[in-house]
Amino acid sequence: MSLGKTWKGELSNKRKNGSEYVEYASISPIRNNLGVVTHYVAIKADVTANKKAEAHTIHLAFYDQLTDLPNRQLLLDRLQQALVLSARNQKYGALLFIDLDHFKSLNDTLGHDAGDKLLQQVAIRLLNCVRESDTVARIGGDEFVIMLEELSQDALESGAFAELIGKKILDAFQEKFEIGKNSCQSTPSIGIALFSGDRKDTIDDVMKQADLAMYDAKAAGRNSLRFFDTKMQTAAILRSKIESDLRLALDQNLFRLYYQPQFNKEGRIIGAEALLRMQHPERGLIAPGEFIAVAEETGLILPIGTWVLETACAQLAMWSTNRKTARLTLGVNVSARQFRDHNFVEQVLSIIHKVGANSYLLKLEPTESVLLENVEETIERMSILRIGGVHFSLDDFGTGYSSLAYLKKLPLDQLKIDQSFVREVPEDPHACSIVRAIITLAKSLELDIIAEGVETESQRQFLLENGCELYQGYLFSRPIPIEQFNELIENLQNQNT
Ligand code: C2E
Ligand code: CA
Ligand code: CA
Repeated sequence: MSLGKTWKGELSNKRKNGSEYVEYASISPIRNNLGVVTHYVAIKADVTANKKAEAHTIHLAFYDQLTDLPNRQLLLDRLQQALVLSARNQKYGALLFIDLDHFKSLNDTLGHDAGDKLLQQVAIRLLNCVRESDTVARIGGDEFVIMLEELSQDALESGAFAELIGKKILDAFQEKFEIGKNSCQSTPSIGIALFSGDRKDTIDDVMKQADLAMYDAKAAGRNSLRFFDTKMQTAAILRSKIESDLRLALDQNLFRLYYQPQFNKEGRIIGAEALLRMQHPERGLIAPGEFIAVAEETGLILPIGTWVLETACAQLAMWSTNRKTARLTLGVNVSARQFRDHNFVEQVLSIIHKVGANSYLLKLEPTESVLLENVEETIERMSILRIGGVHFSLDDFGTGYSSLAYLKKLPLDQLKIDQSFVREVPEDPHACSIVRAIITLAKSLELDIIAEGVETESQRQFLLENGCELYQGYLFSRPIPIEQFNELIENLQNQNT
């Protein structure tokens, strides 16, 4: 008999009662005289307690004891990894430095215990402002840092998202903190720096930049946020100006719907698309390109979208009283945020009902990206609306990533060829083949097809020759106010007579 080669190591195991433990084991084979293994001898020891102690030590080294948040060391580690990841996927991340305003005086008046309790509650509020994958760390006294990863490949978009989180934090501090019998107000100053592995940022750079931005926020009067990057800061100021303009417009009824007519090949107007404008008291008429993104980010698109739907449906009801306009369809744009709102379906149907519009003439225009978000639920929502008579035209078609199989499942009525392709025909052969393919696709799925952004006669000709017989674009008319639109209809010789 002889001992073979011994294996030593740790094993996870389960007790009969189901609880887990870690055992240290040494296992040796036993060979008989012929050298064949006949038995194994195992010597085991429960080392769960040692393991726990070890884990505890590691925890102490990387986590803040008061709040249990990652400490500076762990934050720097994660930032290093985030920079590597960002170099690989080209996405920006952001660091938010958060410093409590006047924390020291609170500490002095209410005592250190109260200060500690405040810091713990701040930790919880900060955690509630971010996604689970983000890091919230406490790096010293009243200094917290949030690291957001994998934002977007676009700097301005990433900045907008970081700002959104920053604003969420400012909001979260609006409510007073309850500490023992006292309730106290605390405000943060927030500095934001974007980082990108691609830009060869180092940990030190990013930490310094966010810190500097935080001092800017303090200097700006506290309870505010500042970007390190002046471009970001300018964009942020612009966004908050737009946000207040949007609120003003909602409040004072400054939104307008313009109507861009849609024509068939005989030159008759078959409908229109409703396009939103803001009638600004100082700046005049503002196009949606300037404010829709902010409206979506801030959620203001919900009340704005409701106004658009109500106004558009009321217009349909009005048209129904005139023989020349009674059969016009009206396209209404809906953004992702609206479509995702759980009240959306109910809201659309109740507006139609309330104003007495014919639902068959309402055509919602979601984009591909809207529909790709949550396919099953999207199909269900669209189906209910469709049973209610509402039609769907898939906007900006060709710019997204819809697969054929998926398109087939959606209850659509129409595809709208995106203007970026229409613009390039008939000169660019690549655009020509895309447009032809879209038209063929629409036919095979038995969907209507319309081209938007038709500006020239040669574009119209190309579309017509390839089987697209509905058009919208400057060649025919720009979007115009309703009075002008109605006039146009009245004056068109061959309109519906
Ligand atoms: P969209 O839905 O793709 O609308 C078509 C845009 O192309 C409109 O810009 C229209 O004025 C413009 N256009 C029409 N014909 C031509 C043409 O021949 N040439 C060129 N170059 N452009 C043409 P607009 O009105 O500035 O709207 C921009 C975008 O804003 C819309 O793109 C839509 O995505 C969004 N939008 C507009 N109104 C609403 C709304 O009520 N709700 C939501 N959520 N989004 C809206
Ligand atoms: Ca549209
Ligand atoms: Ca479009």
